[in-house]
Amino acid sequence: MRLTEQQAADIETARAQRSPTARPTVPALEAMLFQAIPVLDHGFVRVIDYMGDDAAIVQAARVSYGRGTRRVSEDAGLIRYLMRHYHSTPFEMCEIKYHVKLPIFVARQWIRHRTANVNEYSARYSILDREFYLPAPEHLAAQSSVNRQGRGDVLSGEEAAHVLDLLRDDATRCYDHYAEMLNEDQAGAARDPSRQGLARELARMNLTLNTYTQWYWKIDLYNLFHFLSLRADAHAQYEIRAYAEAMLGTVAAWVPVAHQAFLDYRLGAATLSAQMLAVVRRMLAGEAVEQPNSGLNRREWAELMAAVGRQEER
Ligand SMILES: Cc1cc2nc3c(=O)[nH]c(=O)nc-3n(C[C@H](O)[C@H](O)[C@H](O)COP(=O)(O)OP(=O)(O)OC[C@H]3O[C@@H](n4cnc5c(N)ncnc54)[C@H](O)[C@@H]3O)c2cc1C
Repeated sequence: MRLTEQQAADIETARAQRSPTARPTVPALEAMLFQAIPVLDHGFVRVIDYMGDDAAIVQAARVSYGRGTRRVSEDAGLIRYLMRHYHSTPFEMCEIKYHVKLPIFVARQWIRHRTANVNEYSARYSILDREFYLPAPEHLAAQSSVNRQGRGDVLSGEEAAHVLDLLRDDATRCYDHYAEMLNEDQAGAARDPSRQGLARELARMNLTLNTYTQWYWKIDLYNLFHFLSLRADAHAQYEIRAYAEAMLGTVAAWVPVAHQAFLDYRLGAATLSAQMLAVVRRMLAGEAVEQPNSGLNRREWAELMAAVGRQEER
């Protein structure tokens, strides 16, 4: 992650400011406010603002005049009940706003989550930075042979070095051509005064998908949990999962009780179909159930066995 001196100074200035308020605040999240949490090689997540806390969930659920809180254990019990039973609207009373710097191919996955408010850095208006995501060696993997949407073994030796060279060279060459077509430096001055230069909105189409973009992204806690349940899941692509995991850390600081309920009833939980449940019941009754006599197809059987810890999901 590279922040310019000016960007780092702006963050420090923002962090030094204090705004007296009657609104509830969360000290653990205040301590993180504005700071860039590094993700991937040049990316980050920063919390810019938030509204609400664990008590706000309780307050909304009870439709209280005051803070609505009772004993800590009662409040935690209520939050966990709401999470367990998909009583979702009290979680929508909390909001959080992030500033995210991410590769364009990750942004394409992320933007599919339609329940957030987004404002992206405009490459029609500004010139994108010369920064590309290059996977760390341990993330440079072959296509999975068993999952068409996944990775297999990590590449090694000459092949890994060659792939990294290709990624770096192509991104660099495309960026150099982008800069050449724009014919302007970051300050807006013409590099070659004899040329007009191509419009930024057109020149950007030459950039590779590992180029970094940035956005402000605001979402309520219910929909954030939905995003995190899909993107912090082990099946999500590593690159977006890295962002989701950084955001999970901010959620733990912000709403610790709701965060724990989310881990227990969503992220660490498994949904069983009626047929899967029937298999579990037969197994608990002592029957030796195998895939052929389970009523499940091989994929579902493998998923059930992974969920109950009998064997690895393939
Ligand atoms: C592992 C993985 C693989 C994926 N693979 C592909 C793929 O191959 N191709 C592909 O195109 N996408 C793929 N996706 C994206 C996926 O299909 C969803 O678009 C994405 O996860 C956003 O989910 P969502 O719609 O539930 O979220 P959000 O857009 O945040 O919506 C949250 C919820 O709001 C409701 N909602 C929001 N908007 C509407 C609406 N217009 N109409 C009705 N209900 C709405 C739905 O209940 C929805 O679940 C993949 C996602 C994952 C996690």
